[in-house]
Amino acid sequence: MFEVVIGLEVHVQLNTNTKLFCGCATSFGEAPNTNICPTCIGLPGALPVLNKEAVHKAIMFGKAVNAKINQTSIFNRKNYFYPDLPSGYQISQFEIPIVGEGELFIDFLTESDKHKEDGSTKRVGIARAHLENDAGKNTHHGNASWVDLNRAGTPLLEIVSEPDMRNADEAVRYLKKLHSIVRYLGISDANMQEGSFRCDVNVSIRPKGDTKLYTRCEIKNMNSFRFIARAIEFEVNRHIDAWEDGVYDKVIVQETRLFDVNTGETRSMRGKEDSADYRYFPDPDLRPVIISDEMLAEYSKIPELPDEKKNRFVSEFGIKEYDAAVLTSSLEMALFFEEMMKEGISGKNAVTWLSVELQGRLKEGATIENCGISAKTLATVVKRIEDGTISGKAAKDVLDYLMTKEPVITVPDNVNSMADLVNAIDNQDVDKLIDCLGLKQVSDDGAIIAIIDEVLNANQNKVAEYKSGKDKMFGFFVGQVMKLSKGSANPNKVNDLLKEKLS
Ligand code: ADP
Ligand code: ZN
Ligand code: MG
Repeated sequence: MFEVVIGLEVHVQLNTNTKLFCGCATSFGEAPNTNICPTCIGLPGALPVLNKEAVHKAIMFGKAVNAKINQTSIFNRKNYFYPDLPSGYQISQFEIPIVGEGELFIDFLTESDKHKEDGSTKRVGIARAHLENDAGKNTHHGNASWVDLNRAGTPLLEIVSEPDMRNADEAVRYLKKLHSIVRYLGISDANMQEGSFRCDVNVSIRPKGDTKLYTRCEIKNMNSFRFIARAIEFEVNRHIDAWEDGVYDKVIVQETRLFDVNTGETRSMRGKEDSADYRYFPDPDLRPVIISDEMLAEYSKIPELPDEKKNRFVSEFGIKEYDAAVLTSSLEMALFFEEMMKEGISGKNAVTWLSVELQGRLKEGATIENCGISAKTLATVVKRIEDGTISGKAAKDVLDYLMTKEPVITVPDNVNSMADLVNAIDNQDVDKLIDCLGLKQVSDDGAIIAIIDEVLNANQNKVAEYKSGKDKMFGFFVGQVMKLSKGSANPNKVNDLLKEKLS
């Protein structure tokens, strides 16, 4: 009955060394009002000078989303009053942004590699991306409000989507894709907790089939995918309820709203201005930004992007498209995987041991980078399974020990030298660890045959049953051999040799 319409504005803080229009540092977490100068606190007469690195990074982004780059763009003053904006205007881009129309593709891959009926990808239009400076920060302490201008003037790239998303899921997928593109480009740390990647969510509804846009509400400054989804759901319900109660025109007005994480509701913050209210005009202190052809060529060089990496992982390492999409959604994971593959192991095994075993063992707050085990070490563990040195089960033990951080570790009975064990863990020496823990599989035919003979001799009536057609006895024999070998026999070998013996 209704269709949901969502458009997103994402503010990405570019990781330039200095601010957008002055030489102040862009560092995070310094004492309040220490990274400031006359320009970024908007003193009259101080002149802005555009940061070339920000222009470079904006163009890299434009290239990544297949956008038109405007080789001439201009900066405008967007006039409004707010205590954290002492100049009374923000320097932004309006009529001609540096990055024009582009596009981004979101994925709907599922684990079974079966795609949604509407296809495996959806195109979301990008309307524009423009450079602007950030404001400072207000903090409220009892009755007093403090202003910290350290952040004032840091460069933002505001990426504005077309209103192309139809539900919260699509919006979150769009944001995740955008986040990973920005991380791959290395143009921002995109740290959401610190606000380096934050989003304004515009939501409206309309009767299905209608193509006009209805009144939108904008939910400001969201920095968690989970809360964004919840805010959209709340807002959609509010719009639909208003429509169904016949009060849509009264209740739904163009406004800026805030999401309250405690109640899960949005509430009105202020009426939303139309662009005319900002009295945009070209900033007389800044000349148009002109990108020469040479500059454009130079700035257009970008690294491999998530989709390209995903496709390459599929063709080069033979892994499932879904797995490749999960791996490449995070740059850290993708690089870790590539590093593992340098050890010549199977792609499928690498996926399992990285995304199931290693990730499953990460404690709260731990990341693949600081978990203490390198890609090479993990790949060595996998290699030892592949060459039959250890069983998959033993490999899990090895990984547990490698990732032990506690000063006291449980010493298995069969460890001869505690010092050797600690050493092996400290040095992340997989082979030594396997030795210490006595996990080596017995793959030697003679030793396994001896055990098989023992088992078959002790169970002669069962052998007779098997030979008379009771096939499922086979599993019993395998179990007995494994038990007698204390789990150390190579199960593939056991299978082969048993078959031979019993035929
Ligand atoms: P402003 O900065 O005033 O919010 P922008 O044009 O920068 O305006 O951003 C508007 C955003 O809202 C865009 O992402 C656009 O796709 C989206 N949008 C516009 N109209 C609607 C609507 N009716 N419903 C949902 N989203 C909308
Ligand atoms: Zn400054
Ligand atoms: Mg907006």
